[in-house]
Amino acid sequence: MTSPANTHLAAIPILMYHNIAPAPRDLAVYRSLYVSPGAFGRQMWLLHRLGYIGLSVTAAEPYLRGEKSGRVAVITLDDGYADNLQSAMPVLQKWGFSATCYVVSGQIGRYNSWDDQRLGIRKQLMTTEQLRAWRDGGMEIGAHTRTHPRLTQCTEPQLHGEIRGCKEELEDRIGSEVTQFCYPYGDENERVVEVTREAGFRTATTTHRGRAVAGDDLWRLPRMQIARHHLLPQFAMKVFSGYEDRRR
Ligand SMILES: [Zn+2]
Repeated sequence: MTSPANTHLAAIPILMYHNIAPAPRDLAVYRSLYVSPGAFGRQMWLLHRLGYIGLSVTAAEPYLRGEKSGRVAVITLDDGYADNLQSAMPVLQKWGFSATCYVVSGQIGRYNSWDDQRLGIRKQLMTTEQLRAWRDGGMEIGAHTRTHPRLTQCTEPQLHGEIRGCKEELEDRIGSEVTQFCYPYGDENERVVEVTREAGFRTATTTHRGRAVAGDDLWRLPRMQIARHHLLPQFAMKVFSGYEDRRR
């Protein structure tokens, strides 16, 4: 982890998105979870323009492990919204990028039942067919539990059901292996991490802020939220400078 070769490796920004859509006008709170398709397009263009490749978590694994180095950014989208397929995928494909969408397996084809009350809005989640289209379009599907609970508050059987159960459910639905995990609300502890590793996931992302570096704990990867109010210069500052790292 501290070999001399690794000390020169660049930081690896792992971007966190939710909805790629215009924020609904009547939505009072959590508008920041929306990034408009136009803004997303400009952000991906900038990555490409500066020589970065946008990668799914699996494609980025050799970089996170320090086996490869290069200008890469990891692109993640949480929850599995249908707008990811409609608005993010065409942009990602345009630049030859891939991305990981973390899916709530118990809500496929339904809506955000875990926070629709709080947000006052029901948002459409991808159906099985749409998840397959996402995968067939060169994108990755990761796991985000069965019901989007706070994992540190789950009982032992619940924990296994939410983590291992999600992996099995997703693999059943899409017919391919699911190896990446994301903790809902970034909520994890030693026990949650242990169950995630035992379930056969290879990495897990959190909401700890900052850019990842090779050799980081793969089951507690930091990310940076890209929000609606971030203009292109702020996006660049977060992604390409140490601005977020100081907040780790
Ligand atoms: Zn989530």
